[in-house]
Amino acid sequence: MVIGAGPAGSSAAQAAAQRGTRVLLIDRRQRIGVPVQCAEFVPQWISRYASFSSTCIMQRVEKMVTHLPGCITYEMKSPGYMLDRSLFDKELAASAILSGARISIGTRAVDLSPEGLVVERGSKMETIPSKVFIGADGASSTVARFVGKPPLKTITALQYEIVISEPQNHVDVYFHKDYEGGYGWFFPKGKTANVGVGVVTSKMPQLSTLLGNFLDLLRESKKLQGIQIVSKTGGLIPCEFYEQNLFKNVLLVGDAAGHAHPITGAGIFNAVMSGEIAGRIAAEAIERGDLRYLENYETEWRETFGNSLSYGALKRELLDENWNKSEVLFEELIRKTWIGCKEYYQGRREIPLRFPLPTGRQALPKGEDTPL
Ligand SMILES: Cc1cc2nc3c(=O)[nH]c(=O)nc-3n(C[C@H](O)[C@H](O)[C@H](O)COP(=O)(O)OP(=O)(O)OC[C@H]3O[C@@H](n4cnc5c(N)ncnc54)[C@H](O)[C@@H]3O)c2cc1C
Repeated sequence: MVIGAGPAGSSAAQAAAQRGTRVLLIDRRQRIGVPVQCAEFVPQWISRYASFSSTCIMQRVEKMVTHLPGCITYEMKSPGYMLDRSLFDKELAASAILSGARISIGTRAVDLSPEGLVVERGSKMETIPSKVFIGADGASSTVARFVGKPPLKTITALQYEIVISEPQNHVDVYFHKDYEGGYGWFFPKGKTANVGVGVVTSKMPQLSTLLGNFLDLLRESKKLQGIQIVSKTGGLIPCEFYEQNLFKNVLLVGDAAGHAHPITGAGIFNAVMSGEIAGRIAAEAIERGDLRYLENYETEWRETFGNSLSYGALKRELLDENWNKSEVLFEELIRKTWIGCKEYYQGRREIPLRFPLPTGRQALPKGEDTPL
């Protein structure tokens, strides 16, 4: 059984169903993918791992421009897509269903008992047994609480979708001392752009003012002509991860496990990958009648993107420790900790891998840390 039909849950459900396992995918939402809580940028190589049609792509992106105070900018190639995230999520769920999974929307997980998962559907409560439970229920995961994990440290983001007059084929990221632990972004998608600010969750009360100031800055620099908002969203993004993602027959995937990148907050790609790994391994464990096989999930997600996450976590520590130190040069700190600057990667090879790779096995292709 899979709890949560975001990118992680639908990928898990599809991978398990493709192996002939009976899968139930539940989501508390009445409409999969709605509301969108995302800036919608993904690296282009996600298409190797997720099955979605070109209709989900709002526009292509070639590069990322990083803006530091004092008009300093850095450019980096960053081939990717701006998605229609609600359609993307729906297509991934549809692919899972077409592979044989069943779905139940409007169904919220409320408890995990020895008899099964307790769910609330309308005014009814029901207990659903399952051999394996995959917790794909996002950054405020209830399943993580069921297995005794404390909430993860998060970044809180607020975003407006704004009409733009000039199309552009790159994403912009802005750093400012006021955006503590986070950044501002301008991600174009045709006639509109997702414009937002993310900060450490303790600064959440200031978020709306910070976004207002960011919009003023964009207007002053002529990036925005006027401020016509067509939608508003926001949400939490984990910026740390659980070392352990397997608890007897419960697996955590995607944001529920803290698989978003600790620095960029990009989580769609890792959600798809961890979901696929978990679904495939869960199906195989069930087929073999041996739940010890689930241990392979821990090994495989770590081999696939564990080192990129743990390197990001080191940078997150450096960023958080130094953000408010007056003796630390802000620009220097950002250059060392932001993936859009070459200093981020310096010394990476000298740091021992937190999750050593077995001989002959390769981690993600070079560039897995490229933006968002
Ligand atoms: C403002 C913002 C901007 C972002 N921008 C980007 C970006 O540009 N690129 C990028 O890669 N990432 C971005 N992210 C992160 C990205 O959205 C997440 O990493 C990604 O959605 C994780 O996928 P997931 O499947 O793990 O979780 P989610 O997409 O959060 O899906 C979880 C699902 O579980 C369901 N659920 C929750 N609780 C329960 C329950 N108790 N019972 C049943 N169902 C439940 C929810 O309804 C939801 O459908 C952004 C996040 C935010 C908040």
